[in-house]
Amino acid sequence: MSKTRADHTSSPHASRQGSPKGDAPRLTLSFLTSAPGLAACPADNTPEVAFAGRSNAGKSSVLNRLSGSRQTAKVSKTPGRTQLLNFFSIKEAGGAIKEAGGAIKEAGGAVEESGDTPGYGRLVDLPGYGYAKAGRAEQARWQAAVNEYLSHRDNLVALVLVMDIRHPLQAHDLEIIDWATDSELPMLILLNKADKLKYGARQRTLKTVCSRLRNSPLIRTITFSATTGLNLPELLDFLATRLAPDTQDQ
Ligand code: GDP
Repeated sequence: MSKTRADHTSSPHASRQGSPKGDAPRLTLSFLTSAPGLAACPADNTPEVAFAGRSNAGKSSVLNRLSGSRQTAKVSKTPGRTQLLNFFSIKEAGGAIKEAGGAIKEAGGAVEESGDTPGYGRLVDLPGYGYAKAGRAEQARWQAAVNEYLSHRDNLVALVLVMDIRHPLQAHDLEIIDWATDSELPMLILLNKADKLKYGARQRTLKTVCSRLRNSPLIRTITFSATTGLNLPELLDFLATRLAPDTQDQ
């Protein structure tokens, strides 16, 4: 992660730590392609929000929760694809994104994607780091692919970092947080599996993580649960804001 990115700045939203559950809004995600590295990424200008996180933090479950389908992240877990960057097109953003308050559709309509029908931006599932069974060389290879993507992918407009709320701020998480801070890339940190902790413990962890963020105005942290849908609207709101064409120019 070498390049400093200073081209995507905006004011963050006010932090909301509510716990809406109810009828969760959803995105329609369609698997587009997999890439082993930067050179094989789709060659167009479609904006992308990447999802990063330690293996087992719940990244796949978060993507499934967003789409309301277990098939979504199953794609990324298919043998042979776990080490790849997996690209998903957002096909129908209307309902979910509107409810979240961002309205990608209303902000400028669908974006054209090469060799595909129009979409509303993309989500990119990055290979999870720290997979216990992977060898060192394999882990180093994944890391290099992720670093290359993060450092040089012009389409990247924001990052979602998924951490297990019970084991936050591991070495690679800190690396990504520091890089995003230095690069001025908007980032949302999900303290996932919040359902595993009582309210007081959740808030304590939230405070600890926030105090580690060097007051970056572009990074927000929320408690989250892929299992219960806790704070899903906040995640949708973040995606809508970052993928809206109007935001790209800021
Ligand atoms: P990934 O390796 O980061 O993609 O993690 P997975 O999505 O496969 O999740 C790892 C394990 O954590 C699975 O057993 C999930 O069911 C579980 N998990 C993921 N998110 C949550 C959550 O929000 N709450 C709870 N209780 N379990 C979760």
